[in-house]
Amino acid sequence: MGLPTGFLEIERKDRPYEKVEKRLKNWKEFVLPLPPAEIGKQGARCMDCGIPFCHNGCPVNNLIPDWNDLVRRDRWQDALEMLHSTNNFPEFTGRICPAPCEASCTLNIDDNPVTIKSIECAIVDRGWEEGWVVPLVPAKKTGKRIAVVGSGPAGMACAQQLARAGHSVALFEKADRIGGLLRYGIPDFKMEKRLIDRRMRQMEAEGVEFRTGVEVGATLSIKSLLEGYDAVALTGGAELPRDLDVPGRELDGIHYAMDFLTQQNKRVAGDDEARAAPRGTLTAKGKHVVVIGGGDTGSDCIGTSNRQGAASVTQLEVMPQPPERENKALTWPDWPLKMRTSSSQEEGAERDFAVLTKRAVGKDGKVEALECVRVTFDKGRMQEVAGSAFQLKADLVLLAMGFLGPRQPGMVEQATVALDPRGNVAANVVDYKTSVPKLFAAGDMRRGQSLVVWAIREGRQCARSIDQTLMGVTTLPR
Ligand SMILES: Cc1cc2nc3c(=O)[nH]c(=O)nc-3n(C[C@H](O)[C@H](O)[C@H](O)COP(=O)(O)OP(=O)(O)OC[C@H]3O[C@@H](n4cnc5c(N)ncnc54)[C@H](O)[C@@H]3O)c2cc1C
Ligand code: SF4
Repeated sequence: MGLPTGFLEIERKDRPYEKVEKRLKNWKEFVLPLPPAEIGKQGARCMDCGIPFCHNGCPVNNLIPDWNDLVRRDRWQDALEMLHSTNNFPEFTGRICPAPCEASCTLNIDDNPVTIKSIECAIVDRGWEEGWVVPLVPAKKTGKRIAVVGSGPAGMACAQQLARAGHSVALFEKADRIGGLLRYGIPDFKMEKRLIDRRMRQMEAEGVEFRTGVEVGATLSIKSLLEGYDAVALTGGAELPRDLDVPGRELDGIHYAMDFLTQQNKRVAGDDEARAAPRGTLTAKGKHVVVIGGGDTGSDCIGTSNRQGAASVTQLEVMPQPPERENKALTWPDWPLKMRTSSSQEEGAERDFAVLTKRAVGKDGKVEALECVRVTFDKGRMQEVAGSAFQLKADLVLLAMGFLGPRQPGMVEQATVALDPRGNVAANVVDYKTSVPKLFAAGDMRRGQSLVVWAIREGRQCARSIDQTLMGVTTLPR
């Protein structure tokens, strides 16, 4: 275990950020790693609780106290092996996970949780630097062929687990590069894309075949996949964005967040403008930007707009402002609702809460302003505040109001799979089987819009179920 009195003797210390002025000048990651000795000290703060609540908070059930102790003892390679036993891609979660484990940590009762996410990231980053992360090539092949459709974190985790179990795996992706929202949603300043490329090379060496530019349900039919493969995993994400249903929505200058974010990630990847923005350039440069929606996607729009040189950025949220500090007695060890400020919001954005957009107004077909009204909530029912209408200057409006579920036309319709009441592909979390034999589903496509860490969990568990179904037994972990 950690030092028995470590949490009393050692202050919590987390990774610092590059200064705002400096980080706004480029698209690189700006979180500065802590030296290994400091990470060891932070690991020593862990109390190895009798009931490690951090485990429960972590969707992949990371063995947190164990690797905290291993870094404290300077056994980094063992820590890496333990970390990889539950998480295929800790370098992704170590950068972009909201860290529900830290919210659940016993030391969070007085706001000083173990820096679990930083320790995770340090272990895997060091593993790559030292050359400890190598392809795990299976000793023998099973002769089974499996198709995985969608190369986000769910598809990548599913494909990697299946390849390691000895199956021949083809990973199909409609985009030109693999990674799903890791590649084209999350900006480079939060997670550089070389990390996906590096994992892709590892997976290739383990036998995964990558087929980009193939849209299942359009360029390739589900029927042909079902005929050619022993099992098919659907991991196509929840791509249908929530729209803004107000007069003036058709004005030029109002766009879905993903259309805006994808373009910038392609530019950073080196694509020329024609390839990055085939339907026309979207840029925040010199514009008054309004982001509608207060979540991760909204934050990514703010960070991207500020780096592009926006004149101003305002973020609107329809829900009321949450409390500065949660009531621990009511919330711990669950994920609390509280006021959070993301690194992008910290870089510069006006935030306004309990605001409803009523209409977009403009001239010559271009948006110029949003008409809004303040709202209150009474027993969950929203009411407009009389006399509170106001106008907000807007040259670019980015819609970041969440996703409704998987797109139905194409693959989902063609697969004729049953859907759950929310429109996601129906499958349980025991066997991940859809209503159609041989077809499995995992990640956002099954659970709806969620987190990278949940996608990794589902991809791993879905792989286990496929292995069990095809082979009768499995040694893949749940
Ligand atoms: C802008 C943004 C920022 C986010 N930030 C965070 C964050 O900071 N932390 C976090 O934990 N989560 C974040 N999320 C959520 C997270 O990215 C998702 O929950 C996660 O990526 C879901 O993984 P997935 O593999 O299920 O699906 P996705 O990542 O959506 O991948 C699905 C893939 O399937 C492909 N596909 C779909 N249909 C087909 C088809 N018919 N044929 C071939 N390919 C197909 C798509 O092109 C896509 O590449 C963010 C989401 C967004 C939109
Ligand atoms: S809850 Fe916190 S202190 Fe307890 S074992 Fe987990 S990381 Fe360590």
